[in-house]
Formats: sequence, structure tokens, C-alpha cells
Amino acid sequence: MSPNTEQFVLIPGRTSTQGTTLNEGKSTAGYQQETGTLLMAENDMTRVGLAEGQHVRLTSAQGSVEVPCRKGRKGELPDGVLFIAYGPTSSVLMGGDTHGTGMPDSKGLDVTLEPLDAVTEHVAEKKAKRGKTDAAGTEGEPITTTVENATCTFCGCVCDDMVLTVENDHITKAKNACILGKAWFLNHDADETQPTAVVEGRPASLEQGAARAAEILAAARYPIMYGLSDTTCEAQRVALAIADRVGACVDTTTSVCHGPSGMAFQGVGETTCSLGEVKNRADLVIFWGSNPADSHPRHFTRYSLMPKGRFVPRGRKDRTVVLVDVRKTKSAAAADIFVPIKPRKDFETLWALRAMVNGVRLDAGPLEEETGISMEVFEDLVQRMKSCKFGVLFFGMGLTMTRGKHLNAEAALTLARDLNQYTRFTAKPMRGHGNVTGADNVVSWTTGYPFGVSLGRGYPRFNPGEFTTVDTLTRREADAAIIIAADPASNFPDPAREYLKTIPSIVLDPKPSMTARQATVRFTTCTYGINTAGTVYRMDDVPIPLRPAFDSPFPSDQTVLEAIEANLAGIAAEPTRAAV
Ligand code: SF4
Repeated sequence: MSPNTEQFVLIPGRTSTQGTTLNEGKSTAGYQQETGTLLMAENDMTRVGLAEGQHVRLTSAQGSVEVPCRKGRKGELPDGVLFIAYGPTSSVLMGGDTHGTGMPDSKGLDVTLEPLDAVTEHVAEKKAKRGKTDAAGTEGEPITTTVENATCTFCGCVCDDMVLTVENDHITKAKNACILGKAWFLNHDADETQPTAVVEGRPASLEQGAARAAEILAAARYPIMYGLSDTTCEAQRVALAIADRVGACVDTTTSVCHGPSGMAFQGVGETTCSLGEVKNRADLVIFWGSNPADSHPRHFTRYSLMPKGRFVPRGRKDRTVVLVDVRKTKSAAAADIFVPIKPRKDFETLWALRAMVNGVRLDAGPLEEETGISMEVFEDLVQRMKSCKFGVLFFGMGLTMTRGKHLNAEAALTLARDLNQYTRFTAKPMRGHGNVTGADNVVSWTTGYPFGVSLGRGYPRFNPGEFTTVDTLTRREADAAIIIAADPASNFPDPAREYLKTIPSIVLDPKPSMTARQATVRFTTCTYGINTAGTVYRMDDVPIPLRPAFDSPFPSDQTVLEAIEANLAGIAAEPTRAAV
């Protein structure tokens, strides 16, 4: 190791720019710059002797990357903590071991940082200053329509009050959408140069693609199905029928975000409520390891902070808002109280809160040393939680993705349960993808479990860490994959990504993602919510209908999956599949 290296804790996470550039495309300079730039505390940069834009080498137990570094916003990052937006760079540093949970550690990574000599110019930044691309020219007057009460499916808020202006086959305005929602609606024009299907590198029809996909799945001894969170419940239902028919392991993107919450619900249950109840009743709102200002921008205004409700008639003035996090994110500006917690000490902090809520006396010194939080702050928090009329704790991936995972989520859920001895208190996960909650629901109502389910023996078995996709790929067990609306080739740990390249895969995606480009059979599908109707679930398990804006030349996920299922019905089932 070089004498100049220093140890840091790296916290990858979401940013709003990552979300908007994601919709423009992962190959754009904007996305690559956002996900390939390291943020550091100013003190750390000065101490290490780094200049703005200077490259550093980050090395974890898994891999190494070279990235330019920049100062974080003032006060955002404590000393010793680094931040990078989720993306291909952060994935290189993640390991494939999920510790029996299905989810690799993707936050709180131990890394060494080594300064590199050159201050490299931001080439990507220059590229990002590109002009806006005009929409495809259209002969004559454009036909303009308006779609009222359309639904945004970019994040788990699933806002259903969009007013879309559509000119020919292009959305030009998305009234009421946040910055992420606008990027979602304005960047989903169909690329008509793409074929409907590509089979082994050659353009094909839907029928040819479906026939080849069915052959691959029928011949596999250990097929896996992954994704499902960015499609309709109707498509998810057909996907589950295929999985049942071929005895696949079914897993959704839940396993790499709120999988630990799903495990915790099964372990300790949940006290829950709808976002409507939060809006109308909550007078204490705690965000723990979540940063809605970047990841769910309208959560504050629609549900949790600002709206006036029946029992909180003055809206924000009737609420106390607390943010618990390892870094002072943008959301901290909206909170009354910011509680900075030591990285990877969520479980200890929640367990101490449980003890205090239940009347156990704790020693102030060791408590502060362990968690970074003083006894005064603990006591104030406990008093507020016990005396509020309706409290809610929204927990994010800062809690579920750090070490402890489902135990962290269990601690949050049991704290909420304990508080119901005194008042009404609930705990809810901040779900990310538009219909990841729908995926949990459809997989649960079909198999009894939310994700990481094997149907290989003809009946469902749930075992995160065994049947979850990172594990089945890292252990090199799967021999075929069907991936629906997800891009594991760009966000899984390296061992899983490398193995995925070696097995036949079928991919359904509106965009030519990295996973789609390496697929044996790839289908270009239309975008749910923009081109197709259907149902999605909001993060609080409330189903919401979709109102499409314009027709696409490409089939829906549901249509493609129905075609594959029809082909499978014509292929005799392999009698020996039950062995896996
Ligand atoms: S908060 Fe989420 S669902 Fe609502 S408009 Fe923004 S991205 Fe879309």
C-alpha cells in the first residue's frame, strides 16, 4: 500500500442529478460525470492535500476505481466519510457476498484513498455542456393533446396528478412533476430505429424472439427471473406464470434495496399506515437514512411535511421533522432537528432508543461514544416520540443497506411497535422504483413471499441469500436468466456481472441498457405509464391506475411475456427440473 493512502468510509447514494441524467441515458456525459465524481469533506481534502478535480484511487476489498474528487457542500460530509452517486463506479467497489440476505453491502464501505498526481480536466463536464437535442421534426402542424391525472412512475411516490402536454408522440410538458419526474416524462420517446427483438445479434420479430426465449427457458435447469420493479402489475403477473412454468428463482430489485425490510416484516411484523394518514394525522415525522429531497422530491409537499391535513390543519407548522443520517443531506434543510449518527451505528442507536422508550437507564458516556449522539439528544427524541399524537418513521436505504441490514430494519419496526404503548406510531420504508411495491405484492400474492423465491421444486421456497439474484449469479448456479426492466449488468457487484455475461439471457427493456446489449434475446418494449395503461402500487401499498400519453410502436412487457408464455405452453416441460 502506498504511504499516502488513507482509510475512509464510502457512502454511495442517490442524487437528484443522478436521477435526471439516468433518464437521459447511462451513456450520457452527465450521468457518467455524476456517478463518477467523488465528494469529500473540505477538511479531508486539505489534510490529504487534494485539489478540486484531482484524481484519486479508491480501493475496497473488492475492486479499485480512479475518480476525480470534489468538495461536498459545506457541512454535508463529516470528516472521514466519502460520498459518490450510485452507478457503475460504486458497483465496482461492492463485493458479491450478501451475508445471507440477498443484498450486497453497498453503503458504509471501507475504502483506502490514494491521491494521484495529475489534476485531470473534467472532459465529461465539457461534454455535458451540450446543446439540447431537438425533438424529431414533424411535417405540418403538431397534434397537441393533454393528459390529465397521469401517473409518474419514476419513484415510489407514484404521483398521480400529472398534467401532460403531448405533441405528436413526444411529451413537451409535465405540469406538477418534480425535476426527476420531468426528466422521466421528457426522455421517453420511442427510438424507432430499434428492432422489436434482437436474437443472437440479429433483428427479429416479436414472434421469433418469443420462440427463442421460450426455448432458452425450457432448456435451462436453473433459470432465474430478475427485475420486475419498473413494469405494471399485469406484466408482473404474467412473468410469475412463466416462472412457475419453468421452475425459476424469482427475484425483484427489492433484494438490492429494501429486501432487508421485507425480511424484517416477516420477522417482527409492521405497524403501518397509508400516506393519506400521514398527510392528515402525522405531527412527528422522522426520516432515518433517507434523503427525500434527492430521491423522492415531492414526498415532503404531497404527504409528509407541507400539506395541511384534517388533524394537522396548519401543515408544516403542526409538524416536527427529524432527520437521522450519517451526512447532512439536502433533506436536512427541511428538518427541525438533524441528528448526525456515526456510520454503521444505526442498530445500536435504534436499540438504545428502544431501551429508553421501555424505561431502561443507559450510561451517557458509552452511549455517545458508540453512536455519536449525546444523551440530551436521545432524551429529547424519546420524549417527542412518546408524546406525539401520530408519529411516523420513514426509513431508507441508509438503514437497510448498511451492515446489520434486516436487523436494522427490525430495530426500526420494533421501536415503532414499542411506541404504540404510548401513542400511534408507524414505520414505513421509503421505496425507490415506481412499482417495486407492486412487484412485492404480486410476488407475495402468487408465492406467499416478496422476493428471492425458488419455484424449482414446484412449490415456493423463500430464502434470501440463496435464491436472490446476486447470490445465484455470484455462486455461478444459474444457467439462464430472464431480466425484466432492470439493468443488473451496470449495478450488480463484479462477480455477478461477469457471470451473467456467460449464460444465455433474455432482456425486456425500453432502452438499450448494458444488460440488454449483452442479451441473447432482447426485446425493446414501450414504457409503462407513458405508453401503456395498467396498475402500479405506491410505496404505501395503495394501487394507482396508469393513464398512457401516446402509443408506442413497441409492445408492452405484458405482450412480450404473454408471447413467451404461449410458446412455453407448447414446449413439453422438463421432468427433471425439480432436482435443483
Ligand atoms: S416525486 Fe417521484 S413520482 Fe412524484 S413526480 Fe417526482 S419522481 Fe415522479
